Amino acid sequence: MQEPSDAEPAMAWEPITPLPHPLEPSMVADLVASLATAGVRRVAVTFVNHAGSPLVKTFPLERLAVVAHQGVGFSPVADAFAVDGSVDPLHPFARPDGDLRLRPDLQALIPFDLAAGWAWAPGERFDREGCPYAADQRGFCRRALAELTALKAEVVAGFEIEWVVATAAAEPEGDAVAGWQPALLGGPYGADRLVDGLDYVSALAEALEAAGLPWLQIHPEYGLGQMELSLAPADPLSAADRLVAARLLIQRVTARFGWRCSFSPLVTPDRVGNGGHVHLSLSRDGLPLWQGGDGVAGLTAPGAGVLGALLEQLPALLPLACPLALSYRRLGPGRWSAPFQAWGVENRETALRLIPTAGDGAPAHLELKVADLAANPYLLLGGLLAVVADGLQRPRPLAAPVQGDPAALGVAAPPRLPASLEEASRAFATSSVLRDALGDLLHSTVLETQRAEQRRAAHLDPDQLLVQSRWSPG
Ligand code: GLU
Ligand code: MG
Repeated sequence: MQEPSDAEPAMAWEPITPLPHPLEPSMVADLVASLATAGVRRVAVTFVNHAGSPLVKTFPLERLAVVAHQGVGFSPVADAFAVDGSVDPLHPFARPDGDLRLRPDLQALIPFDLAAGWAWAPGERFDREGCPYAADQRGFCRRALAELTALKAEVVAGFEIEWVVATAAAEPEGDAVAGWQPALLGGPYGADRLVDGLDYVSALAEALEAAGLPWLQIHPEYGLGQMELSLAPADPLSAADRLVAARLLIQRVTARFGWRCSFSPLVTPDRVGNGGHVHLSLSRDGLPLWQGGDGVAGLTAPGAGVLGALLEQLPALLPLACPLALSYRRLGPGRWSAPFQAWGVENRETALRLIPTAGDGAPAHLELKVADLAANPYLLLGGLLAVVADGLQRPRPLAAPVQGDPAALGVAAPPRLPASLEEASRAFATSSVLRDALGDLLHSTVLETQRAEQRRAAHLDPDQLLVQSRWSPG
């Protein structure tokens, strides 16, 4: 529930000066030299596939110039991998032929565990001629960002990460669903949990700082063994990159303690799940649109029009925010996962929560609470940006904000968001806003990934589905 502010704390690592495109060999050589001096010896490059899994290749630092130019090979079949690694034979990418090249974005390269000699960079995929791959998720987010910039609009985004930390002890026989043990004890938001896990939290903060990932808050969350990290806001592409890097660092630090972590939407059926809430602020021509206006809670007319578009498109955006069949078990009322197609001022049960500006001067922003961490952050943010751009050009009327618990409003309750991946996926399939923004190849193949996930889930009973992809490492 932490709100990003615009202030970024100072970090030990100075981000690399943006490199010009096309890359100048001498600048890449300088970058390699400065990385080597910092202790980097090898580089990992990731992309996040259609199912939301970060996939990786690594190479020695000396090859950075070659790899930045040529990329490393990655078969298109990687986008047919389900969250458990299985490949649905009906997926259009479930084929052995073709190849792509994954290129690291050197502007986004950061140290990742310097003591072990690693750097990390997000990548984008191209063909052998150097043309962008139309189904690349980060490339889509970049395109959506460029379209918003062309409208002179700016979105700043930040993610919250919730995760559960457990011991590595095997679940007791016959009790796989509820039998895991939290590694960090203490109550919800409890200072006792912080003290119990102080070495862990310190190690995590140090890992984030060494990587130059600015963070705003860490705290014990409500659930058993659950923690939360709020990342500092940034431009949407960097915000998605930061989410990927921070998750990998959390996993790394957790493993160092001999534990395992879960980012799964639901870890135990009857408890709260893990959210991946997204915060967005919006301005146009340098003026904020969700504050300083005459509308409800200070909304400007164009800001209200964009909020109306986001509300209208929420069902279609849902499979990008909540992509697993399991995601929909988290979306019950009273679990703070905000499963209503409504907005509210500071209302934590509406899918869109407006946090207005106030006397403290913090900028107004929107929180999309419904999202979970199975989401591919590039697809989710790209989709949100596309709807924002659409709402600026075709403002939609905005209903009144919902006050109080939507579940308690009886007949006056706002609509529930789709209650299953199947229902959400139908809304995604028919959204011309998203289809136009994603392009035919990306839209149709993401849709096929949603259908493959539905087929995968149909073969598992609900508890198997929950247990199967619960832990990182699995
Ligand atoms: N854990 C809740 C979720 O699943 C969110 C709790 C909160 O409000 O931060 O999204
Ligand atoms: Mg939280």
